[in-house]
Amino acid sequence: MTNFADLGLSQKVLSAVTDAGYTIPTPIQAGAIPPALQRRDILGIAQTGTGKTASFVLPMLTLLEKGRARARMPRTLILEPTRELAAQVAENFDKYGKNHKLNIALLIGGVSFDEQDRKLERGADVLICTPGRLLDHFERGKLLMSGVEILVIDEADRMLDMGFIPDIERIAKMIPFTRQTLFFSATMPPEIQKLADRFLQNPERVEVARPASTAQTVTQRFVATHGKDYEKRAVLRDLIRAQDDLKNAIIFCNRKKDVADLFRSLERHGFSVGALHGDMDQRSRMAMLAGFKDNLITLLVASDVAARGLDIPDVSHVFNFDVPIHAEDYVHRIGRTGRAGRSGASFTLVTKRDMKFSDAIEKLIGQKVEWLNGDLSNLPEPMESHDTGRRERGRDGRKDRKKDGDRAPRGRSDHKTDTVRADSEAEIEAVVERVEAVKPARNAETKQSNGHRPERPVRAASPANDDNRDRRNRHRRDHDDGPTPVGFGDEIPAFMLIAGKA
Ligand code: AMP
Repeated sequence: MTNFADLGLSQKVLSAVTDAGYTIPTPIQAGAIPPALQRRDILGIAQTGTGKTASFVLPMLTLLEKGRARARMPRTLILEPTRELAAQVAENFDKYGKNHKLNIALLIGGVSFDEQDRKLERGADVLICTPGRLLDHFERGKLLMSGVEILVIDEADRMLDMGFIPDIERIAKMIPFTRQTLFFSATMPPEIQKLADRFLQNPERVEVARPASTAQTVTQRFVATHGKDYEKRAVLRDLIRAQDDLKNAIIFCNRKKDVADLFRSLERHGFSVGALHGDMDQRSRMAMLAGFKDNLITLLVASDVAARGLDIPDVSHVFNFDVPIHAEDYVHRIGRTGRAGRSGASFTLVTKRDMKFSDAIEKLIGQKVEWLNGDLSNLPEPMESHDTGRRERGRDGRKDRKKDGDRAPRGRSDHKTDTVRADSEAEIEAVVERVEAVKPARNAETKQSNGHRPERPVRAASPANDDNRDRRNRHRRDHDDGPTPVGFGDEIPAFMLIAGKA
């Protein structure tokens, strides 16, 4: 078995790796680090969760020990598809580079140009960027790319999905041909192979997992459900509550709008929940992520783009509220659990409409996924959740889902839809504020099973004017199985409070 000490890394790096608690390199690290240290190009085919980040950060740190950065001339450049991934890579430099005095500059959207300019002015040893922000800086004349010795292109298949390849090609043209290029992708579709052929010179190919394979340690189940959103939400709630060993979970939706709707519904049902989607600002995304990592939030509803590659250790469950349209996204989603050999569970809600997507997933991963309670052919008549059955009936026994805010109001006009959207945004912001306030006071009591909201930290953090809201939420929780109040009570959907035209 290879040890870190055998890979050719510097003493400073080895000592930081030891302090991080790692003794044995992962296969991508063992395969990529020695040739990277010899300044070879690398084609790394590896999913996140395999230790891929350290496989380029550690040799870069070692190589950067010789030489100095000059103003506006970064020495190395790392391109990441999302801000979160870029921030995560920067964290890796902090962790493994703690014995170095390197200047690391993170150029991502949502952060002021001024601060980033100052870092560039001082001379960056490592520039970590999303492609758009890098080009913005370049166009403002703040960057000279002629000093870049190492270029890292991470998550190339994701870059392709997000339409970043033309930007990457533009950036690569600005960097000297003599550079070393480290290129990583979880999968190698033909477009990515072509790109790799163009960018890399005689690369060392390191492949650690069959493309599109799911970890053996993850239990995967399909769950047959009817197709209406409120029916799916009820199935999801029952499923979450049935998980005795749920520590935390990511719930994936296909669309940003659905992330906001599902977040809102789960929040109203008393779950400890956060949201992560591409339209949220940087501060909110970071706060949500930090809250989730610190166990202040148990369930994180997310879109693919926002969640791709996030390094959240030890996620116990992944729920796919929607079957992903691209089968490869399934592999990435499932890859959030069962990391580093731990066990994990994933559940994918499948409706009749989704059959072609679930078939494509099975084809891609080369295995059949078991159904939890029988497949779609055995689906009973529209189901009721254990909680919705009674809650959603009015006194006369008629269903009235509007009361618990679970069903998106049926407003037809844009005005109403906008109001609902504004409400979701406000509620997401409220969670962000609670997390930001609680974070320093994190303690073990925040951990709670089955996704229900941890009472203490959230309440302790709530500003005084949130008290009423909290009380209402507690009322909702306490009466989850109880009779529904007549009329709307304090559950009136916000859009109904807007005065109509006289
Ligand atoms: P990544 O694939 O870079 O997202 O890394 C996945 C996780 O594995 C991160 O939490 C790393 O801190 C962790 N990790 C990286 N290298 C090792 C190692 N050699 N042994 C154990 N865990 C590691």
